[in-house]
Amino acid sequence: MDGFTYTANPTRVVFGAGTLQHLAREIDALGARRALVLCTPEQIDAAQRVAMLLGERAAGIFPRAAMHVPIETARQARAEAQRLGADCAVAIGGGSTTGLGKAIALDSGLPILAIPTTYAGSEMTPIYGLTEGGLKKTGRDARVLPRTVIYDPELSLTLPLGMSVTSALNAIAHAAEGLYAHDGNPITALMAQEGIRALAAALPRLASDARDLDARSQALYGAWLCGSVLGAVAMGLHHKLCHTLGGSFGLPHAEVHTVILPHALAYNASHAPEAMARIARALGAHDAAQAVFDLAAAHGAPTSLRAIGMPEGGLDRAADLAATTPYPNPRPLERAALRALLQRAFDGAKPQS
Ligand code: NAD
Repeated sequence: MDGFTYTANPTRVVFGAGTLQHLAREIDALGARRALVLCTPEQIDAAQRVAMLLGERAAGIFPRAAMHVPIETARQARAEAQRLGADCAVAIGGGSTTGLGKAIALDSGLPILAIPTTYAGSEMTPIYGLTEGGLKKTGRDARVLPRTVIYDPELSLTLPLGMSVTSALNAIAHAAEGLYAHDGNPITALMAQEGIRALAAALPRLASDARDLDARSQALYGAWLCGSVLGAVAMGLHHKLCHTLGGSFGLPHAEVHTVILPHALAYNASHAPEAMARIARALGAHDAAQAVFDLAAAHGAPTSLRAIGMPEGGLDRAADLAATTPYPNPRPLERAALRALLQRAFDGAKPQS
């Protein structure tokens, strides 16, 4: 076995149906007394439940989390935390809400307790994003890594099936790219393969009953593993393309991941055979890229950029952007091949290795 370096992120994880009831205990364990609860406007009910469970430990609710963390929202939330004398933040929701918590932590060092209700995986990473003047900047900082994560699958029962599928594919993308990351290692590979397996196994069960609690637990467990991979190793072409398409063309996050992943895997397949074999094995298939495409299609997820609002006239610029910024990827970045990849993704064609 080759040597490797692995840095574990020190998050405490509390997992299981009904674990939200341990919230007050977990706030005490952080040594905190006054929590600002963060949520999107759509999840105010969940935030109110959290505030109720916190009782006197609740400082208030900030219900204005939004996609890609606009800097103005981050500033308002930071000011609110200060005004209320909050000594920690509780983020209940998907990646957007966790992202707002991270923006507060980046500035103030306040500890974050995250309660994820999607499969995006942000809660397991020290990666933050902030959008200013239409430009999203991302970075890594140990201060933004949530100190505690409560994974309670009961809270994901309300996630609509369509979002559950695209969010699961978003998670699978972290693990898939982690398997060919230049700084990957046997530990992240284990987590990645098991994460993909758990999510892919959960999807057909959720399709027949979106309120199947055991399937929700499997999916959330998979999402945790995939998020851990994202937090531990560098991502490649797929994440770069999604960042470009999301940032420059305003395409929805989980849907872009869903559409691009089969094509990014096909692009890299010849340069990462071991990773492809592991992904295929986790999906019980022969060809990784095709299996991911089939998984999305079988569950009614979008399979074309056209369907999620990409203007065809933007494909050239997207290819330019993806080809010009240097980033680690198993296969060298060839502009013509990237442009062809984007066209296939735009048309909803099958992935082509
Ligand atoms: P999201 O957080 O934007 O949520 C989408 C919508 O679904 C929101 O209205 C939300 O309130 C709602 N929702 C969430 N959970 C629900 C539930 N259980 N029931 C009903 N409604 C629910 O979507 P997301 O895909 O989780 O996150 C996307 C964002 O996270 C992007 O900005 C992305 O860049 C970021 N992200 C960051 C990281 C990181 O490591 N920094 C990782 C993954 C994603």
